[in-house]
Amino acid sequence: MTDSNDRARPKTASSLDKLPPYLFARIDAKRDALRDAGIDVISLGIGDPDMPTPDHIIDAMAQAIRQPANHRYPDYAGSPAYRQACCDWMLQRFGVKLDASSECLALIGSKEGIAHIHMAFLDPGDYVLAPSVGYPVYSGGAVLTHAHTYFMPMNATGGWLADFSTVPAAVLDKTRLMFLGYPNNPTGAVASTDYLDAAIDFCQRHGILLVHDNAYSEICFDGYVAPSVLERPGAKDVAVEMFSLSKSYNMTGWRIGFAVGNARAIRALGTVKNNLDSGQFTAIQDAAIAALLGPQDAVGAMCKLYQRRRDLIIQALEQIGIRCQSPKATVYVWAQVPDGFSSESFATKLLEEAHVIVTPGSGYGPDGEGYIRISLTTPDDQLLEAVRRIGTLAQR
Ligand SMILES: *Cc1c(COP(=O)(O)O)cnc(C)c1O
Repeated sequence: MTDSNDRARPKTASSLDKLPPYLFARIDAKRDALRDAGIDVISLGIGDPDMPTPDHIIDAMAQAIRQPANHRYPDYAGSPAYRQACCDWMLQRFGVKLDASSECLALIGSKEGIAHIHMAFLDPGDYVLAPSVGYPVYSGGAVLTHAHTYFMPMNATGGWLADFSTVPAAVLDKTRLMFLGYPNNPTGAVASTDYLDAAIDFCQRHGILLVHDNAYSEICFDGYVAPSVLERPGAKDVAVEMFSLSKSYNMTGWRIGFAVGNARAIRALGTVKNNLDSGQFTAIQDAAIAALLGPQDAVGAMCKLYQRRRDLIIQALEQIGIRCQSPKATVYVWAQVPDGFSSESFATKLLEEAHVIVTPGSGYGPDGEGYIRISLTTPDDQLLEAVRRIGTLAQR
C-alpha cells in the first residue's frame, strides 16, 4: 500500500478491521455539538466511580512509593505479598481456599487478564462463548486471536442469564472458553448458585474453561451478597475468576486486579503475561493489599450511596412511564425503552430533549436492542438535575 507520497506503509492486521465499530460514536458526536453550543450535558453513561480512592489506600501508596525495592522490575506474576492478600481476601469474603503461588495471578486491571486469557487458550478458528449482551472485551479478545465468538442468547424473561443450552454441537467441538459475569454489566442481573452450578457442569462436560468476570462482587444492594463461582463444587477444575479493585475500591485508574482459580489456566495466563508485560508496579500492589485487607467500611458506604442513586433514577424513570427491575448489584440500571423507540433513538431523545446521556443497550450486543443503560457513578448534584430533566419529559 502507498500513501500520497508514494511511500510504502505497513499494512495493519486484518483482525483490527474485524473489531466492531464504536457504536456510541453518533451519540458522542451529538453530545459534542450540544456542548460546543454551550449546553450543559449530564452524562449517565460512564461506568467509572466518581468518588475518590479511600484515604488509607492512598496513604499506603504514599509509603510504598518511597521504598526503593519497589522501583525495580516487579514480579510478573504479582508480589508474593499481594497474591497472598488476594487469597486471604478470597477466604474471608467467600470461604474459598486458594494457593497463592499456583492459583493466583496479579493483573494490570481485570480487563488485561480477560484480554490475555484468549491468547492462552485459543488457536485460530476456535470458538469463545460470550453473553449476547456484555463486556466487549470477551469477543474483542477473540477477534484479536483470530477466533470466533458464539453469542449466547439473553433476555429479560430468562433474568438476563446467558443461555448456553442451545449452543450447536459443531460450535461446542471448537469451544475453548466461556465468559460469564454476574453481577452483570450492563444488565445489573445477578446469577443464582443453580445457574453457576449448571455452567460449571456444562464446561466440565465439554472441556471448556469458564472465565467468570466478577468486577462487581462488592457493589451489592438490599442485603444481597454476590457469590464467587469458586465457592461452587468442582469449580476449580474448570473455572478462573477475574477480580478487579476498580469498582469495589474506586481504583479504576490504578489498574489492579487478580485472577484466581484453576492452576493450569493460571499458569497458562502467566506464561502469556510473562512474554508480554512485566507485571504491575509493586507499589500499586502494596496499596491494593491495604484495600483488600484494611477497613472495608468505605465499600459499605459506597453501596449505600449507589443504592440511593439507584432509587432516585428508578423513580424518575417511572415518572416518564418506564418501569424497570431494581438491580440488586452493580452501578447500572438497565431499562426497556418505550414502544416505538430503539435503544439509539431513545438515547438520542434523552440527549436532545433532556440533555442527559445514557448508553444505548445495542452497543453491548444484539440482545441489548430495546434497552438503555444508566450509570450510577455521577455526582449527586448532577444526578438530581438529570433526574429532574428526565421527569420534565413526561409533561411534554
Ligand atoms: C469495569 C469492568 C471490568 C474491568 O475492570 P478493570 O479491573 O478496571 O480492568 C471488567 N469487566 C467488567 C464487566 C467491567 O465492567
